[in-house]
Order: sequence, then structure tokens, then C-alpha cells
Amino acid sequence: MTLAILASRALSGADASAVRVETHLGAGLPAFTVVGLPDTEVRESRERVRAAILNSGFEFPNGRITVNLSPADLPKASARFDLPIALGVLLASGQIAVPGARGDVAPQGLQDMVFAGELSLTGALVSAGAPLALALAVARDQPGATMVLPTVSAAVAAWVPGLLVLAADTLADVAAHLAGSAALPAAQPKAWAEAAMPPCLSDVRGQPMARRALEVTAAGRHSLLMIGPPGAGKSMLAQRLPGLLPPLSRLQALEAAALAGLTGSQTVLQGQPAFRAPHHGATAAALIGGGAYPRPGEISLAHHGVLFLDELPEFDRRSLESLREPLETGRVAIARARHTVQYPARFQLIAAMNPCPCGWRGHPGRPCRCTPDQVTRYVGKLSGPLLDRLDLLIELPATGTDCLTEPPGEPSAPVRERVARCRERQQQRQGCANAELQGSDIDACCELDTEGQHLLHQAMHRLHGSARSTHRVLRVARTVADLDEQPRVLVRHVAEALQYRCRLR
Ligand SMILES: [Zn+2]
Repeated sequence: MTLAILASRALSGADASAVRVETHLGAGLPAFTVVGLPDTEVRESRERVRAAILNSGFEFPNGRITVNLSPADLPKASARFDLPIALGVLLASGQIAVPGARGDVAPQGLQDMVFAGELSLTGALVSAGAPLALALAVARDQPGATMVLPTVSAAVAAWVPGLLVLAADTLADVAAHLAGSAALPAAQPKAWAEAAMPPCLSDVRGQPMARRALEVTAAGRHSLLMIGPPGAGKSMLAQRLPGLLPPLSRLQALEAAALAGLTGSQTVLQGQPAFRAPHHGATAAALIGGGAYPRPGEISLAHHGVLFLDELPEFDRRSLESLREPLETGRVAIARARHTVQYPARFQLIAAMNPCPCGWRGHPGRPCRCTPDQVTRYVGKLSGPLLDRLDLLIELPATGTDCLTEPPGEPSAPVRERVARCRERQQQRQGCANAELQGSDIDACCELDTEGQHLLHQAMHRLHGSARSTHRVLRVARTVADLDEQPRVLVRHVAEALQYRCRLR
């Protein structure tokens, strides 16, 4: 075989697309060229491949070696092509005799195999980089395929069902496997550490209306803005939302963990939705994603989980505006000079803010020192279109010391059960959560009787509500009716939904 073709994967955003690694050995002056617009990293890979081949007991062939990574327009900034390139050189030069190979025809088995791994100069395999993202993409595109990865990466990739993942420690081990002299072992999935339980709702004393709003938020996968003075319990409530949500499916958990890069994602892997609370000083790139080497932002780290933005008006206006697109589509596109990367960002948005810059407006015991102008400017930092995308807007009253003597609130577990039943109803009726109802499905699922229509019409007129915010009220009313286990949305459900539509002033 003078031409070897092996399959690998290139990471683009959170996805990993197929790459063909073609290695040709021809006659002529010795040369080793890698083409296909590789980055500096891939050029460095040439030196590692050469040393690894020599130090694994093979010869570096004396001829013109051309490696083509195709397609050429994929970003390929990774050392994970070391392994397929080195194997290509060994196959093309006949140093690995693959059973079933003849002439230029690749053996059958190689077509269903995907190789990735960085080589050290000694020929040891170091890691494959983003193994979970690679394995999810291979399982999706080539179910039943075999992946050959460094042992440390293989242990993570083995979490993904529908693949055979083989673990290799050295280039020589992979060569022996292909030659049929010593089989690589199937990877042992890495053990998951025991995850801590999320904080319990029973810690929140008082605030019955806010607790109820949080349950409705969880039950319909709605977005929520809480307005209240410092100490009213806004952050406490937000932190307790993940503990009220249904557990993630296996695939959702793996997708979320692939984005989080496995750091701090143990709880996510065990099905607990992520909770991300970036500081209001976070840059647009940190929040939305980006950078010279694009990385997922907080909104993608919150994929299938909760994004909590405390002190919402303090966030950079442009960053807040760029939340609108992912809130609608569940994805974010980041434009780079030569290509666009996409990251999933299907998050549930919870936000909180003070009623005014000093925080004490409307507080019974402390004076507010803000001028009406300052308050208007503060609230004005939130654009209408962003507010229009929030389903529930609630005011939290100040809590005095008397709330400490109140008995503990209902714990998370029974609330979570109600939420799960409620989500099940939505799934059976319309195949999505109420917050995701669109267009004619809203009319079909949230049909009101005359009394309900009348109340909604009057209220929206009084609130100067847009068509968009009327739809928000309808979706929330649908969730309230589902918690009430009612097939129809009744006037009392509309009335409760309207309570969660407080006006900012
Ligand atoms: Zn104030």
C-alpha cells in the first residue's frame, strides 16, 4: 500500500466533523509534507510523528511523504492528528501489514475506525483533546464505529453509547492491533464521583409568592426576572432551581459535559442540570462565547441547565442584546474571520435585579436615595425586546427578621415531583415545554373561555403589553393550568399568570 486513508475528527465549535487523513509515499528526494491548510500545531506534529515512529522501533521511510487532511477548510488546530498521520506513514510504507489489504485497497475494517491522539516523542499516546465531543459526533454520524484513542481519553469517550472505544497507550500498540498480532482492550468507562445534592428549597423561609413563581418557572421551563432589595433571597431562590428540574437524559448530560470540558461537570454527568452564574463584569466573549481560539461562553456552559444573571442592568448592554438569539433558537453562532462556529446554548434564563441603583426603593425600613431620573436610567438599561423575552417578572418584598422564625418551607423533592408530572403532561400534549410553544400551537394549547379572554384583554391593555408579551402570559397560564391538572386554561390560571407580569418603573 503506498496510499493509506484513515478517518479522524476535527473540532469545530462543539461539533466534531469528519476528516480524512490521506498519506501517500512516493519516490523522490526525502520529504515530509502536510497539506490541507494546517495550523502551526499540525506542522509541529510532523516532528513528533517522525520521532515517535523512530522511537517505536520502526523506520522513517526514505521517500516523498505527502499527508493531506481533507476537507481543507476545516479548522485543524490540534495535535490529535498525530496518531492517524503516523499510522498512515507506517501503512503506506508497508511497515504494518494489515490482514486483507492488497495493493492500494484499504482493508475493510479500517473504514469503520476513527483515530485520534497526540503522540509524545517516545511514541506514547498522550490525549485526544475533547474526547466526549468527538465520541458524540462519531456515535451520531457512524453508529457502531470503532474509535481508537489514548487510554485517558478513551475512558471518557466510553461513556457514549453506541460505539466501540479501544484504549491504546502507544503507537506500537495500535500498529500491533492493526496487524492483528495483539488486540487493543475495550476502554473502561471512567468512574463518576458522587455528586453533591443541589441546595434545598426548605432553606428559603417566607416568600410564598416567589416560591410559587419558581415552581411555575421550573414546570414550564420559563424564564424569570426577580426584582427585590438586597437580602430578599433572589440568589437563594435561583440556586434552588436546578434541584426542581427533571434530571437530564443521558445524551443531554453528555452534551452538556462535552461543552463544559469535563471540569466541574461531575454533577451534570449524573443528570443534574448545570447552574451558571457569571458576574456582571463578564466580557461578551466570556458570556456568549468567542476569543481567538473560540471557546463556549457561559450560555453554552449552561446548556440544558440554568443561567443566572444577578444584577441584570449592570451587565454590558451589548451582551444582553446578544442573548436574544440563543433564547429563541437554543444556539449561538460566533463569526470568525474565516468561518463561523456554533455552540448549543439551550439554557433557562433566571435574572435578578434591585428595584433601583441603591437597592432600597420601596423598602419599609430603609430610605432610598435615588432620584427618579436615576431609577428610570437604571431600569432603562434593559431593552424592551429583552424584557419581552422574559416570561415571569415578579417583585420580592423585603424580608424582615421575622421570617427567620417562620417554619422551613416545603423541601425541593415534592416540588420536583409536581414539576416532573407537569412536564410529562406538556410532553404528551405538544412534544415540548410550554415556554417553547410557538405560533398556532399557542392558540391550540392555550385556548381561553370568554371570561379568560376578557380578563387577558383588559390586563394587556392596562399593561400596554405587546403581542409577544400576551403570548408569554398565555404560556405561563398554560403551565399554571397544568400544575392544577386542568385540560383547559381557566380564568383563575390567567389571573395567576398576570400576577407574574409586574411592571418595571
Ligand atoms: Zn434607591
